[in-house]
Amino acid sequence: MKSIHFLPLTIGIFVPIILLSYDYPMKPFNRQHKIIATLGESRGTRFHNGVDIMPKTWVSTDSFWLVYSLVSDTMLRITYTGGDTINNGVRDKSDKYSYLHIYNRVDSATYVTAFVDTIGRIYASQAHCHFIEKDSSGRWINPLRPEGLSPFIDTVSPIIESVSFKRQGSGAHLDKNNLNDSVDIVVRVYDPRVDTTGGNAGRGIGIYKIQYEILDTLKNPIPGAINSYQFDSLPLNDPYARYSLVYHDSTDWDSGRFYYWVTNAPFSNIPNQYWNTKQHINRQWYEPPAESIEVAKFKDGKYWVKVYGYDIRNNADTDFEIPKSNPPRNLADQIPNNFQNSKFSRVEIYKDLAKIFRYLGILEFRHLTQREV
Ligand SMILES: [Zn+2]
Repeated sequence: MKSIHFLPLTIGIFVPIILLSYDYPMKPFNRQHKIIATLGESRGTRFHNGVDIMPKTWVSTDSFWLVYSLVSDTMLRITYTGGDTINNGVRDKSDKYSYLHIYNRVDSATYVTAFVDTIGRIYASQAHCHFIEKDSSGRWINPLRPEGLSPFIDTVSPIIESVSFKRQGSGAHLDKNNLNDSVDIVVRVYDPRVDTTGGNAGRGIGIYKIQYEILDTLKNPIPGAINSYQFDSLPLNDPYARYSLVYHDSTDWDSGRFYYWVTNAPFSNIPNQYWNTKQHINRQWYEPPAESIEVAKFKDGKYWVKVYGYDIRNNADTDFEIPKSNPPRNLADQIPNNFQNSKFSRVEIYKDLAKIFRYLGILEFRHLTQREV
């Protein structure tokens, strides 16, 4: 069944905005269920291609563990060979929705009525239904978008745990006091799970969107010095190769530890990217670097690296990093006065606690408080 939501506008008359969302495939259909994994989340060598929905109760024999089709349609079984039975499931014949980790399945080619005929029961050992949605081109899409599973309330922000810098290509760790040339930024961040009312339910799941931006000393964004990507879908092309452009090797999804390469662009034609600290002011990041400080995009001075992590309901955490500056001119006798040898140094890491104080209403609070690195 489709739910119709009316979102009143605050100005003028009430204008209904109709969003066609859909209910959950287990009872109670029109109530939020706990989601314990998201689209795009790490699964070691691949992306998780759906969401994991928990039943309302822990009693595996009760009716809350029965799964129903979201659409009235002919159902087909998804059966893996090799005894991999817990991953078996059912999908509708148009392949729009799939439901995995279920047994007592309907026979293939059975016509079922949505939310009336059960299509199977969740395995006790799995305790969740792996739910997949595809668009008409066969691309995996995010069932938590506003037009997806409803209701889904999330009031809890992602948590950025650390930011680190790596050499593009080799992945070698870069001292934050010695950044130069082609720099990759790795962000450890997770999104807390939410319970059936949208509150914090502990352990982390993958985030929806990640972003970094380079700001000048006064925190004005530097044009073009920004990158973000988000999991509205999964990359359609070579998703296995692109997995490693999203998740750094330190990722341990089973423990809820996710390290994202925020400098990459897994959905673009050039997925493997980096922050070029020596970018030419009139060239792209991948083109030959600036020959001198005069034509450098990042001139002498301090810069902020601002990192954001968002969940799909737009809750965000943000971390600032401040790499300093190409070497000051008065060091010209020690360091060749040549931009190609310049580097960022004296990097300090800050958390934007000012934001929290602003929230409390201390508007004049502008200082940043150093946090543990
Ligand atoms: Zn799953």
